[in-house]
Amino acid sequence: MKTIDKISRMLTLIKILKKEGKSVGFVPTMGYLHEGHLSLTRQAKKHTDLVVMSIFVNPIQFGKNEDYDKYPRDFKRDEELARSAGVDIIFYPSSEEMYPEGYATYVEVKGLTDSLCGDSRPGHFRGVTTVVSKLFWIVKPDIAYFGQKDAQQAYVIRKMAQDLNMDVDVRILPTVREKDGLAMSSRNTYLSEGERKDAVVLYQALKSAEEMVRGGETESKKIIKAIEGIIKPKSRIKIDYVSIVDTKRLKPVSKITGEVLIALAVFIGKARLIDNIIIAP
Ligand code: AMP
Repeated sequence: MKTIDKISRMLTLIKILKKEGKSVGFVPTMGYLHEGHLSLTRQAKKHTDLVVMSIFVNPIQFGKNEDYDKYPRDFKRDEELARSAGVDIIFYPSSEEMYPEGYATYVEVKGLTDSLCGDSRPGHFRGVTTVVSKLFWIVKPDIAYFGQKDAQQAYVIRKMAQDLNMDVDVRILPTVREKDGLAMSSRNTYLSEGERKDAVVLYQALKSAEEMVRGGETESKKIIKAIEGIIKPKSRIKIDYVSIVDTKRLKPVSKITGEVLIALAVFIGKARLIDNIIIAP
């Protein structure tokens, strides 16, 4: 496994590998790896000749009062985990390498970014699509892997790739969860013991929403109310949003008639956590 921190070196190496006819699988991450990241890597390993993982905490996708400085980082640990999952190349650039002085170009996807996290974190997705398009140019992946855990992000990136005619297959893989259902996230490390225990209600609430839909409930309002009713008794949790949107445009639906994304975001202590399920009636 190689670690590369310079864009020029990465471009040269990818050019050589592509000339040799190698297919490239790509897993972009912000590091502090967990089983969610590693599951993407293992899939990439199955489908492509070599796997590139980027580890980059992207400053431009964090808001002013968000956790950029505190975001967990442990490169040595990440290197070991990446190696064990079969990563061939880690791309580990600095922020100065990615955004040198005078950097001025941004990529923005309209529409899909209006709701959910786009609404509560203005500018967040502009940061995500900008960094991912840079990474796509640098790594030139045949297939790029994203987690359903960040469903809106994955849809936005898929749309960007489509609209900008990027020759990359964007694949979305299922959310990996802890035994008790909590979606794995680097930010779970922020949680105290009590907060961690309370956090299980997020998935429990989503599962009970799923049961309501399977039982024939189609009124979004009622389902959202039920989800809030499960989360609210946990006083350590503050709801940012609970929303039911269609999976094409990510617009809120009042009645569930087709496939929907039931998504939520909450604050628990120092963490802002998100989770979702996709369900069709
Ligand atoms: P992050 O490092 O949090 O930016 O995540 C990097 C990639 O891993 C994104 O595509 C995420 O959606 C994905 N990911 C993060 N957590 C999980 C999880 N629990 N299950 C599956 N994929 C995940």
